[in-house]
Order: sequence, then C-alpha cells, then structure tokens
Amino acid sequence: MKKHNFYAGPSILSEHTIKSTAAAVENFAGTGLSLLEVSHRSKEFIAVNDEARALVKELLEVPEGYEVLFLGGGASMQFCMLPFNLLEKKAAYLDTGTWASNAIKEAKFFGEVDVVASSKEANYSFIPKGFTVPENVDYFHFTSNNTIFGTQIRHEPDVKVRLTADMSSDIFSRPVDVSKYDVIYAGAQKNLAPAGVTLVIVRKDALGHVSRPIPSMLDYRTHVKKDSMFNTPPVLPVFAALQTLQWYKELGGIAVLEKKNKDKAALLYDEIDRNKLFKGTAVAEDRSLMNVCFVMNEEYKELEEEFSKFATAAGLVGIKGHRSVGGFRASLYNAMPKSSVEALTAAMKEFEKKH
Ligand SMILES: *Cc1c(COP(=O)(O)O)cnc(C)c1O
Repeated sequence: MKKHNFYAGPSILSEHTIKSTAAAVENFAGTGLSLLEVSHRSKEFIAVNDEARALVKELLEVPEGYEVLFLGGGASMQFCMLPFNLLEKKAAYLDTGTWASNAIKEAKFFGEVDVVASSKEANYSFIPKGFTVPENVDYFHFTSNNTIFGTQIRHEPDVKVRLTADMSSDIFSRPVDVSKYDVIYAGAQKNLAPAGVTLVIVRKDALGHVSRPIPSMLDYRTHVKKDSMFNTPPVLPVFAALQTLQWYKELGGIAVLEKKNKDKAALLYDEIDRNKLFKGTAVAEDRSLMNVCFVMNEEYKELEEEFSKFATAAGLVGIKGHRSVGGFRASLYNAMPKSSVEALTAAMKEFEKKH
C-alpha cells in the first residue's frame, strides 16, 4: 500500500533526493567509490558543497555580503552559536513555542534576554502581535514556523535592530527577503535533507562585534573563511541537500513551491473546518502552512484512538500530534504531493460518515 508520510521531522524528502542519494552511496560522481568513503577535500565533493551553497543563494536570492554555511549540531546548536557570535549585552526574543523558548534559554548564557511577547499562556496557539522591540538590543530573534504548535510568521516583524530567525521548518517553503536578516538558520531535516546538517545564512558584517573570545568551531567567521569546509562536513546530508535544491529549481523555484504549499494547506484546513469531528488548534490567522495541528471536537473526543487506527490502515503515517498539543499533526513539507493531502482529507470524510 502507498504510504503517505506526514512526519514532522525527520520528514518526507523528494523521491529524486532519495534515489540520487542512494545511487551516490553506491557510486559517487563516477568515482567508482561510495559517497561515504570519499575525501571531503576531493574535487568531486568540493563541487557538491560549492554547488549546494550557490543554489541556496540562487533560490533564496541571497544578496551580496552574505555567506551560506552547512554546519553540524542541528538547529539546537544555533540556539547557542548565534548568541555566542552576536550577543554582547542584550537581545530580544519572541516566545512562540518550544523551539523559541529553547533558543531563549540558551541565549541567557551569553547576556540579558528581553522576551518581548509570549503566547505560552494560551499553549502557543497564536502569534503575539503589537509588541515592541527595544532599539538598544543587539538583535531580535524569532521562530518563523512553530513546528509543534502549528503557527507561522510569514511577514517578518518590522524592527530597527539586527534580525535573526530560526526557519527550520519553513525554509524554502515561501520567498524570504534575506536582505532584512543578519542570521537565518534551519536544521535540514524538515525541508532539505536528512538530519545532520544545518543551513546557516549569515551577513558577514554582522560578525566580529562581540568582545568575548569564541572557540573556533562556534565562530561563524571560521566557517565563512573556510568556505564551510573548516572541518569534515556531514557529506551525505550535504549531498542530499544539493539533490533537493536541484529538484526545487527544476520545479520552478520558491514561488512555485509556495503556491503548491498554500494549495495543500487550504485543502486540509478547509476539511478540518468543514468536518464535524475535528477542529484546528491554532488561531486561524496564524495557521502554519507546514504543520497542521488538529484535534477531535469535544463531543467526539473518545474517537481519537479509533481515527488514529483508521488513518494508519489508510497508509497515513506520522499524524500523531506532539504531546504538548495532543490530537493530530499533519506536516505538509515541500516534498509532500497534493495526493497525500487528498488521501488524508478522504480518510477524514470517510471517518465522519461512519459516525
Ligand atoms: C526541529 C526544529 C528544531 C530542532 O532542530 P534540531 O536539528 O533537532 O536541533 C529547532 N527549531 C525548529 C523550528 C524546529 O522545527
């Protein structure tokens, strides 16, 4: 039976990415060797690394003055690496979920943190608005897409300070004006590649303004200077990232992906709103196009387990909600075809008929 992969991360990758990465594991770039056993300093791998970074620049229209890095350690490493490099005295953070609050926790090791607004009291079901970011902070940080709670910020807050963002779960899903940002980072395992690499886009002149010494590995400047090859990069995830980026370009780029994503999300949200059994958990205007969170309506609560089983039997994988929200979460990343979303809405309709 066809499986429909709704996992939140690691998550669905394009068939092109899986197949060409599998082929390179057997024979990489005609070398007769596996991608897993070739020097990262070989001309074949350097070409992969350079092309992947160039494609990130092309697809996101990254302006001059920025560097694209592929680093290890996950997005969670960036929670500390970013303040290590940018926080001299005080930073402002927006608290919109678990990942945002994890980032806040780490930043506090480096200086004062001003949490300008939080939706924690409402279990992060909305994006706080109308907050002000003080002008005496080193930077402002926000999480563009809250993977766990299913909310998203599609228009960056208008701030007069350096802007930084965790875009782990919506990078490449919509156009972004990179010129407004000083640092953007994203763990790869949601919209790019297997786990193990983190994409960082950094404005070079934002670096070098803190007085503390920074260990080499945690200093963005080290990686900028060495073209993202200071030490051995995660070669397989970088190779897979290149395959995904090539596929994105082939499809027509980020604007095309955004259109598809809006389409898929609308299909599912419309069904959630129409179906008497279900309701969405996030405030409608802040709903994420990537992670759709929904629960059973009060009067049908006891059907949750049964719908879970029903969905599994229909080949729908990974729709169990995160424990902090409960219910269900369907992640509709770039690589997910519309037909999988249709399979989910069909299952919801059929289940409704039974009850
Ligand atoms: C998954 C996720 C993370 C954590 O990524 P790791 O690579 O596991 O550290 C951080 N932020 C957001 C928004 C995420 O979705």
